[in-house]
Amino acid sequence: MPPEKLKILMLEDSETDAEIIHRVLKKELQAFEFKLVTNKEAYLIALDEYHPDLILSDNSLPQFSAIEALIILQQRLLFIPFIIVSGAISEEFAVDIIKHGADDYILKDRLTRLPVAIKEVMAKRETNHRLYETLETLQKANKELEQFSFISSHDLQEPLRTISSFSELLLKEYKQKLDGNGEMYLNFIQKSVERMQILVKGLLDYSRIGKEIKISEADCNQIANDVIVDLGAAIAECNAHIQIQQLPVLHGNPTELRQLFQNLLSNAIKYRAKDTIPEIIITAEEQTKHWLFGVHDNGIGIEDKNQEKIFIIFKRLNNRNEYEGTGIGLSHCKKIVEFHGGKIWVESKLKEGSIFYFTILKQ
Ligand code: ADP
Repeated sequence: MPPEKLKILMLEDSETDAEIIHRVLKKELQAFEFKLVTNKEAYLIALDEYHPDLILSDNSLPQFSAIEALIILQQRLLFIPFIIVSGAISEEFAVDIIKHGADDYILKDRLTRLPVAIKEVMAKRETNHRLYETLETLQKANKELEQFSFISSHDLQEPLRTISSFSELLLKEYKQKLDGNGEMYLNFIQKSVERMQILVKGLLDYSRIGKEIKISEADCNQIANDVIVDLGAAIAECNAHIQIQQLPVLHGNPTELRQLFQNLLSNAIKYRAKDTIPEIIITAEEQTKHWLFGVHDNGIGIEDKNQEKIFIIFKRLNNRNEYEGTGIGLSHCKKIVEFHGGKIWVESKLKEGSIFYFTILKQ
């Protein structure tokens, strides 16, 4: 909300100039208050006690200057609009004051421009302020959501462990007293608990991404090759051919990048087409600001309408009996990529295969 009565603080050592400026403003501005200060001490007191909405300042006063006044605002984290009103100034000085955070400057022999400049600066600040507030609300909501998923997944582990161990005990110690149905029901409970434990662990890992912001040199060739070693059994089982092109060494979090490659590669193997040997290629291409990676497969493919949905947590397209999974892997990938200043998407044709593209910001 714009202030009802604009409180203007004027830093000016010439009373005559201050009087002229005051008159110009009176003619053009609706509602405002005006306070004149002529030196640093009075300026500091006014910041504490007057709480101005706008500061107009001459560029140099005895033992004080507009730049020093701007620096004080920055040190105190005060984002008060600041306009220099001065005699002739050089181009270098104009650049310097804008660099120091001044919003505009007006020459004293062009004072008629001052009211317009004030209106423009205040409108711009108002828009920025609203944007800033929206961003702050969003960040807060996001943080709360992350905290919620961290705490809930963390706290859910304990009761799950209790259900799991007591149903195990029941099965072990009361087996004779249970009839066939009783045993079957308990087995169902155990299976569901196991699945819930996997989901909760996935959720917990998901909410942890980005918490440890350790960036270092990460060799993607090394990472991809390590992942291939880890996935050795799954690769051997289906005879998958995996080709890795020359990948970059970049700045990122190696643990998270490894998780990213692992999720995409294991999906490329898991979602293979029936009776087809998986052919998987990892590519990388240098772009202006990013590295563009691609994980290409010849698997079952994904319909157009589902290509965005699969990045939502717990979203799965296939039956659990057909393909094991939790629906967390790709949402994990999305979070990791976004943490590295990039984007992830898929291009795919049903029954032909998919290419998962992602970008990572270059430093
Ligand atoms: P999960 O594999 O545990 O189900 P993901 O989040 O990794 O979870 O994947 C979400 C869904 O996206 C999968 O259930 C699957 O339907 C689809 N999907 C992921 N990768 C591929 C792929 N390479 N080919 C075809 N479908 C895929």
